[in-house]
Amino acid sequence: MKIKNSEIKSHLTKAKYEIDYKYYICDYCGKEIILTSNKDERTGGLVYFPQSLTKRNTIKLALHNKCLRAAIAEFENYK
Ligand SMILES: [Zn+2]
Repeated sequence: MKIKNSEIKSHLTKAKYEIDYKYYICDYCGKEIILTSNKDERTGGLVYFPQSLTKRNTIKLALHNKCLRAAIAEFENYK
């Protein structure tokens, strides 16, 4: 039981450390997207844009949820 508690504690510490300092810069508005531990509270993340949308290569962008629609529209208007 003692060992088990220790394992749980170290796991939580590691998880906290990894999450607290992670953020992306939104490719659309240029502001930070903080990656909180609760996925439901996240305001954005990495999005893969397929070749069919970019007309070039598949690209990966960091975007806020609120910026995603605008970013997709930019690609759709770029023809
Ligand atoms: Zn944004």
